[in-house]
Amino acid sequence: MSSRAWVTLATNDSYGLGALVLAHSLRRVGSSYPAVVLITPSVTDPMRERLGGVFAEVITVDVLDSQDAAHLALLQRPELGITFTKIHCWNLTQYEKCVFLDADTLVVQNCDELFEREQLSAAPDVGWPDCFNSGVFVFSPSVDTFTKLIAFAQERGSFDGGDQGLLNSFFSDWARGDINKHLPFLYNVTSAAFYSYLPALKHYGQNLKIIHFIGAAKPWLQQFNFESGSVDAPDHIRGFLQLWWDLFVGQVHSQLD
Ligand code: UDP
Ligand code: MN
Repeated sequence: MSSRAWVTLATNDSYGLGALVLAHSLRRVGSSYPAVVLITPSVTDPMRERLGGVFAEVITVDVLDSQDAAHLALLQRPELGITFTKIHCWNLTQYEKCVFLDADTLVVQNCDELFEREQLSAAPDVGWPDCFNSGVFVFSPSVDTFTKLIAFAQERGSFDGGDQGLLNSFFSDWARGDINKHLPFLYNVTSAAFYSYLPALKHYGQNLKIIHFIGAAKPWLQQFNFESGSVDAPDHIRGFLQLWWDLFVGQVHSQLD
């Protein structure tokens, strides 16, 4: 078994669609490493089956039913529900090194070199570049780290109410520490960049490794014309959405009942 794995999370079927396309994008670029998806019981059986067809492991995590530290912490901070689910990735101790990818990311070039980085490596967040964006990060599974994260969340909460705030407070030396833990922005190009700095996108775009469709406008919620096979979106963003949809139509939708 590989000691390295890609990890994502889907707590419902909608994000499950994102996870399916993400897994196909990893196959498309020929990654040598398996992909694992964490799901919650709210994911339906048919989606579970689909995920099982493309992920090496589909692992159900159920924070609410377990009588552990996470459960106790959650009782005090119910708003951190999805955040706690993401943190479960530290329990994947069957692997030594993992890269977490949000279900709304798309790998466009092989990124296997990410596994050479150390915990916690991540790319800057465009909203506040002294914080890392928690949609793509390199980590080392460890039950001890998981327990510490839960205790930290219980005591301090998260300054943004989500996993990004919590992880940035916990790994607080990221901004000023080892520069090798700063991933190039190309490993987590958030969709805001498509709008805010178009010349840079034109100049560096061909080196892009991972696209991250942050915010409410997820690819699976866009208008897609099945007759023409094209997405309805502004020019500069259409290319990336089209890539997501091409994988969806070619690899996922064609397999749906
Ligand atoms: N997620 C999920 N269910 C939800 C919300 C989020 O499974 O209802 C997972 C999913 O992997 C998602 C990640 O948590 O990609 C982070 O949320 P999202 O990508 O929506 O946040 P953004 O990147 O837009 O800030
Ligand atoms: Mn995301």
